[in-house]
Amino acid sequence: HPSAPSLMMNAHFASVGEDASQEAYEHGIQVIDEDKVFNANLHTYLNLEKIIPAGFNYHLISVFGSQSTGKSTLLNYLFGTRFGVMAEQERRQTTKGIWMSKNKREGSGRMADNILVMDVEGTDGRERGEDQDFERKSALFALATSEVLIVNIWEHQVGLYQGANMGLLKTVFEVNLQLFVKDSQNNPKSLLFFVIRDHLGTTPLRNLQNTLLQDLSRLWSSISKPAGLENSRIEDYFDFAFVALPHKILQPEKFEAEVERLSTRFREGYNDPKKSGLMDEADLPVFLPQYHRRIPADGFPVYAQGVWDQIVDNKDLDLPTQQELLAQFRCDEISREVLVAFDEKITPLEDKQAEDARLGTPALILDLGVVMNAARSAIFKNFETNASRYHKGVYTRKRAELESKVDGRLKALSQKQLHAAHKSGVEEFSTAVSTAVKSGQKKGANYDFAQIVESEKKKALAKFESEGKALMIEGAPWSHYKQELNLYRKDLDEVSSRLRKEEMRRLATRVERWVRSRLDESIGLEFNKIGTGRGGSGAPEHGERPPSEKDLWDRIWTIFTETVDDAEKRFGERAQSFDASPEEVEVGLWRLRRKSWGVLRAKIDEEVMEGNILLKLRENFEDKFRYDEHGVPRIWRPTDDIEGIYTKARESTITLIPLLSRFKLKATSAPPPLDAWIGNAPPSITSADEEDLAPIGGVDEDEGKSLEEEMTVLSDTKSADLLVRFKKTADGVYVEAKRSAIGGMTQ
Ligand code: GDP
Ligand code: MG
Repeated sequence: HPSAPSLMMNAHFASVGEDASQEAYEHGIQVIDEDKVFNANLHTYLNLEKIIPAGFNYHLISVFGSQSTGKSTLLNYLFGTRFGVMAEQERRQTTKGIWMSKNKREGSGRMADNILVMDVEGTDGRERGEDQDFERKSALFALATSEVLIVNIWEHQVGLYQGANMGLLKTVFEVNLQLFVKDSQNNPKSLLFFVIRDHLGTTPLRNLQNTLLQDLSRLWSSISKPAGLENSRIEDYFDFAFVALPHKILQPEKFEAEVERLSTRFREGYNDPKKSGLMDEADLPVFLPQYHRRIPADGFPVYAQGVWDQIVDNKDLDLPTQQELLAQFRCDEISREVLVAFDEKITPLEDKQAEDARLGTPALILDLGVVMNAARSAIFKNFETNASRYHKGVYTRKRAELESKVDGRLKALSQKQLHAAHKSGVEEFSTAVSTAVKSGQKKGANYDFAQIVESEKKKALAKFESEGKALMIEGAPWSHYKQELNLYRKDLDEVSSRLRKEEMRRLATRVERWVRSRLDESIGLEFNKIGTGRGGSGAPEHGERPPSEKDLWDRIWTIFTETVDDAEKRFGERAQSFDASPEEVEVGLWRLRRKSWGVLRAKIDEEVMEGNILLKLRENFEDKFRYDEHGVPRIWRPTDDIEGIYTKARESTITLIPLLSRFKLKATSAPPPLDAWIGNAPPSITSADEEDLAPIGGVDEDEGKSLEEEMTVLSDTKSADLLVRFKKTADGVYVEAKRSAIGGMTQ
């Protein structure tokens, strides 16, 4: 047992099992011994008698009266108890302190369930000397706990106002005022049940009853009452009942028959007098609801001990406070008990989440919502079942405490679950889109990226939402997932836009590749035209030079811009189809133009590489040198002006070198407007968009390279070097022609 809170519950409970045998309690349990010590095994006893789970379905009776007036004997007959009785020969006190026993005659259906009887030590002080103290204390204890007080007196004592019984009753009345006056609103009534023993029959019960009532009201008016209650009547606090029993020794059969009849009165009654109105007064039930002290059975041992401790310490016994303290103690205890089953279900899940978090691998727990809902409703139901019997205010407060504890843990669980769902959902979404794109690529380039994203997003949101719904807990205001859903949606959008950017990049790469292969072919063709009048675009017309020289760059620029225009169109259309923003398209096109320029520039460089360009110049020269103006190959004769033709052709080709060395347009003699054509960098550009871009002279100002420089195809040194080499080549052709002329003659 957990230790009890201060004030009343300095109890040390015996663990269940200690003295837990029926035989140990053959005579019931001595709740309070002759040294006024409270028995710590009361809980054990009540548990053994199956009273503890009874809730409010139990009753408590105490019996009072002088020593040796047959109290214990009566109880044993009435309730089948085995309280010790005095042997007939010796006249010695047997009952000491306060004993308690459960009714052993229940089950006949004629008596109420779970009647507990307390046999209180006789009070005439014969063997206790002048110990009036115990009488007062036991009266307090009985009144705080019992519904019915049996007052056992001899017939011949009736009317003896000065008799010991009157002393006892005076004490009971005083004590009752002391106890219940504070809470006069709901002061519980008690039943004073007078059992008149050894009734001879000569005086009718009615007369004895009247005498007693007169004595009682005289007694009531004689006691001093607290302020405000001076005019209160005894009936405000007590109901009375009377029964007379024949002499047990002289009329044993009659005695037993009357006791039998009396026993049937220990049953549940109703507050409504009409319900019992037609009954003989001698058969009226004694357990009216208003007598019940409303202490739940499982709290009774703690309550009784608390009450007794207060009494023994001569403290002011304040029952409402005792009941609140009891409620706090029991509600806390019940909280702990119901949390055990909750922990069994929930703690392993919390541990798993903690471990997952430690490893950085949040994972979904299967059916978490179901488990949480079940555990939550179970714990509150269990708590309510056991704790709601206690003080309402305390119960409500403790329930709220438990709720916030439980809900705090469940909230953490569901939030971690949502976090895991978020994380895995985003990952799954990203993978699903990539996979769909890949399979789309395999089938052909025309998959619908926007639609893939759309449908995967829908799936991802639906999955998250269903997890969120499953985690909802009925009646828990904190349990919602809309906020998390919005965050999730935002993340999916972010991932979508990242994936779209990647898709844009892939598209750009494809388009660039297309530009490269187009330029490779068409630009190569243009350069080939330099070398040959017959190759490429077919045989030249007579007397016409192919348009291969003066406007070379104009044609290249036109081909280039037209090709890129074409590519831009392709890019723009496709990008539109996957919902790229105008800004993203703008950036893509800007990048495409720059990259395309790079492709062209590389192609030109390749064409003017030493060997390539030299070959083309030689072809150009040979074309002019070896063919006449009609395009007919010359057969050299010694008489021909080989030297003159050679010089003319050579000089003509040499003019190509400066032309080739600078990219400029014929009309303006200036480089093409590359900077304007590429355009300014779009405002929405990011550093990632610029990362892989090579600088372009005249476009990227801070590169310190001018447009002129960008457009320089051959440097001056290279041009000079090319000139020298070309001349050597031309010289070789000339010598060969010379030789062939002489050879032709000798042939
Ligand atoms: P208690 O001290 O009040 O509990 O009295 P007990 O039950 O121990 O009985 C005291 C004595 O009274 C015993 O010797 C009983 O036999 C005797 N006794 C019990 N019942 C009656 C009764 O109804 N009439 C008389 N005259 N004696 C009784
Ligand atoms: Mg006794």
